[in-house]
Amino acid sequence: MEFSEYFYYPFLAGTIFLFAVVIGRFVKWFMGLSKIDKIRVRIGLFYKKTLESIWESIREGLLHHNIFKTNKMLGYMHMSLAFGWFLLIVVGHIETSCYHGSMFFPFQESVFYRYYVTQPTDFAGHTFFNYAMEILLFFVLSGVMLAYFKRFRSKTFGMKRTTRMRYGDRIGLTALWLIFPMRFLCETFTAGVYHNGSPIFNGIGDAFASIGNLEPWLNPLWLTYSVVLGTFFVAMPFTRYMHIPAEINLIFLRNWGVTLKERRATTFTLAEVYSCSRCGICIDACQLNLAGIKNSQSVYVLKNIRNKNLTDEVLFNCL
Ligand code: SF4
Repeated sequence: MEFSEYFYYPFLAGTIFLFAVVIGRFVKWFMGLSKIDKIRVRIGLFYKKTLESIWESIREGLLHHNIFKTNKMLGYMHMSLAFGWFLLIVVGHIETSCYHGSMFFPFQESVFYRYYVTQPTDFAGHTFFNYAMEILLFFVLSGVMLAYFKRFRSKTFGMKRTTRMRYGDRIGLTALWLIFPMRFLCETFTAGVYHNGSPIFNGIGDAFASIGNLEPWLNPLWLTYSVVLGTFFVAMPFTRYMHIPAEINLIFLRNWGVTLKERRATTFTLAEVYSCSRCGICIDACQLNLAGIKNSQSVYVLKNIRNKNLTDEVLFNCL
């Protein structure tokens, strides 16, 4: 089969854009800290607070320990998406390293491994990696299915109300929801043609192949997967999904001792504001709901600060 060698460009462009914007923002936030806070960061960097921050980032950013305490189903949904995706990246990178016998290869090869490696391989552990990557994908897909379900039945997740979304958030959400189903289709269709998966994906691929010829679908599917990844990465810094890197940044800053003790807004305030995931947990807990006030809950105040459109009415509606 002739693969298009440029299909991964949307993914690559999105990744470069995301890193440039996020790193630029983090540098800006650091430069805006007070002199004493900058010293706290420099000193804290080399103390055990950094190790504690790494553990807290895993516990809260990937495993979502606190959301689990609120509602197990909600916790599983967040955990399977975040931790599952993280494992797909890490295990995928190790798999590609083993295949090449080197840690140095084009970054996109680990993301689109099954696109590039269609012929039988015999490197050590390839059977394990085939199974592991497919099971991890099912794990993430279970979270995506729950996320679809939550849109219609939020009460099952212990939430009476969910947050209202902006147009940009909807683009980010749609791209995120498409990423893993697209990956599933890409890998099973490719397995249906080349049998380059485990018996699980090869079997599903064979079932698809019994309906029709899969080969003409491969290039459009892989290109679409690359486009939805790129779209999500471009949308991330401007939507609720900015909380993913911002939350990790905040955990480190807090543990290094950066505070708001001066009682004035610094860029640390921005680091906090951008860390709100808009999970919506604070909405049901807010007593303003009883008064019919639906725009002054923490999540909306933070959103308005982020969008620079906070009004006195929203701010001072709080009891
Ligand atoms: S402020 Fe509300 S929506 Fe934002 S992270 Fe906290 S509980 Fe979730």
